[in-house]
Amino acid sequence: MSTKDFIEKDYYKVLGVPKDATEAEIKKAYRKLAREFHPDANKGNARAEERFKEISEANDVLGDPKKRKEYDEARALFGNGGFRPGPGAGGGSFNFDLGDLFGGNAQSGGGFGGGGGLGDVFGGLFNRGGTGTTRTQPRRGQDVDTEVTLSFTEAIEGATVPLRMSSQAPCKACSGTGDKNGTPRVCPTCVGTGQVARGSGGGFSLTDPCPDCKGRGLIAEHPCLECKGSGRAKSSRTMQVRIPAGVTDGQRIRLRGKGAPGERGGPAGDLYVVVHVGEHPVFGRKGDNLTVTVPVTFAEAALGGEVRVPTLGGPAVTLKLPPGTPNGRTMRARGKGAVRSDGTRGDLLVTVEVSVPKDLSGKARDALEAYREATAGEDPRAELFEAAKGA
Ligand SMILES: [Zn+2]
Ligand SMILES: [Zn+2]
Repeated sequence: MSTKDFIEKDYYKVLGVPKDATEAEIKKAYRKLAREFHPDANKGNARAEERFKEISEANDVLGDPKKRKEYDEARALFGNGGFRPGPGAGGGSFNFDLGDLFGGNAQSGGGFGGGGGLGDVFGGLFNRGGTGTTRTQPRRGQDVDTEVTLSFTEAIEGATVPLRMSSQAPCKACSGTGDKNGTPRVCPTCVGTGQVARGSGGGFSLTDPCPDCKGRGLIAEHPCLECKGSGRAKSSRTMQVRIPAGVTDGQRIRLRGKGAPGERGGPAGDLYVVVHVGEHPVFGRKGDNLTVTVPVTFAEAALGGEVRVPTLGGPAVTLKLPPGTPNGRTMRARGKGAVRSDGTRGDLLVTVEVSVPKDLSGKARDALEAYREATAGEDPRAELFEAAKGA
């Protein structure tokens, strides 16, 4: 769970209780919903499963008075929706210290890939107490967009693919400080908050990113040569990413927390992957179903018969063709299609196509000549002409 979720998700709504619900009311609401959506009572129902997860998550937070308090405070501070680190909470004097400032980075192992759980963020915000103390706020990493091309089969079955991505990360040469010596100055304009007031009116103030430090809260006296004082560097990394089964061409999937790393212990951004799916020489796809066209002889279509049909990645299946099957008839091989999100499979839609031989050998030609004679009295177009006259 990212910090962003924590702030954006309305756990009260999930449990259907008012903001001022008592502990007992929350417990009661949770029990009722958990019973209703429990996976044991909803076998194979992906929606119920998802709902059950949400309910559990909401209860984890609201059911714990300490977490609930932090949650309420976080939402009050950041507002519902947009995660925008605001200016320091206090208004008066600022105590500032560099050790504090980089503590976040050091904890998350050099600043790379620090998932920055709740502890990082809220520990810093709330548990240090002391009103009037402000710290540079954690910043969520950027969302990253990328693309991947899967083969037809990989898209059906799901695949783990290497994705090479470049994103902004803290500069390694200066540990993200932007200063050659690693000792930047706290920006005097914004006193390290990275924000400046835009003038106030009506009792509240609006803020802008600080123009002197570009919102970083720090100024490098001796700019780092690698990053020219920005503290940021392009980092490229290769990640193994699991693409779930059943993706379709052009689909955009979101991989939470796989985007650019956060700053100062902030959570990582999300990774968005646009999936391109290659074609298959034999199989096509319609949602959860696969399609295949199977040639049959005129005799098989007219007299009926058993037809072997290939499946994707499995053994062939045998379809019974009833006598008098028309050209273009589509039949269904159940469970031989694409994988759905709940693990079951769609069907294979088999379309029959009567194939006309280019050359006929002596015996086959004789038989067909005999067939023509036998059906000489029949006009297959009689109905067509009759219908053309009407209306
Ligand atoms: Zn500044
Ligand atoms: Zn640097």
